[in-house]
Amino acid sequence: MDSIKQAAELIKNSNYCIAYTGAGISVESGIPPFRGESGLWSKYNPIILDINYFKQNPFTSWSVIKEIFYDFFGEALPNDAHKGLAKLENAGYVKSVITQNIDNLHQLAGSQTIYEFHGNSHTLACTSCSCSYSIPELNFEDLPVLCPKCNGLIKPGFIFFGEGIPQYAYQKSIEEAKNADVVIVIGSTGEVVPAAYIPRMAKQNNAKIIELNTEKSMFTNSITDIFIQDKASKSMNLIIEILNI
Ligand code: NAD
Repeated sequence: MDSIKQAAELIKNSNYCIAYTGAGISVESGIPPFRGESGLWSKYNPIILDINYFKQNPFTSWSVIKEIFYDFFGEALPNDAHKGLAKLENAGYVKSVITQNIDNLHQLAGSQTIYEFHGNSHTLACTSCSCSYSIPELNFEDLPVLCPKCNGLIKPGFIFFGEGIPQYAYQKSIEEAKNADVVIVIGSTGEVVPAAYIPRMAKQNNAKIIELNTEKSMFTNSITDIFIQDKASKSMNLIIEILNI
């Protein structure tokens, strides 16, 4: 409880607090992370998200992509950790959310300023004519998903292995890391780079790091100032309660 109180106090007294989220914040919404025992990579081969494999084997890739990201992710709803971040932003405490997630749950929870470091699954684009589409505009029954205008191969709007970070999100995330005096890191192993450089960059600029995770991460013993080892929704609810928002 002491660490929760300290975290709430840091957030309350911050000038520029940001949040940095990973797959762990969405676990309580029913979306498994990639890594770990029950992670998606224990069931699926990550090669389906390799950009060259995808282009050469669009049917095989799309069969798994549809199952994971469109049949399964599609029904998930934000949990109290996503909602808590939106409340913190509404109350003026949190300035932005930098997320590695592609599940749209921060948007659904009501966060306004979101930088999606790895893109988003809800917008898709044609690899031939670059036209972009929302999910309902496309036919997911016949795979691979094809462009209604030119019949080109459609690719989800999140980045695949072998692709670069979206320029705008990358630049804004670096700016936010430089501006931040407090970073709330939620549910990230800290193993995925360059995303993991963002909280590290903030720390180099003297930001305090609050970490919410069920397990220790690569951040915990290196940059974290306050480690709250519990489910993100529980910790977030306690912080919100103390801040009375
Ligand atoms: P990760 O899969 O490497 O690690 C998840 C982290 O969340 C772990 O440290 C774990 O201990 C923690 N965690 C699990 N349950 C938690 C809970 N209830 N509360 C708090 N923490 C919890 O995640 P990562 O480091 O973010 O990297 C995986 C990459 O895969 C991301 O970059 C992301 O792009 C992608 N991904 C996204 C989603 C999504 O959009 N929801 C899901 C899977 C993977």
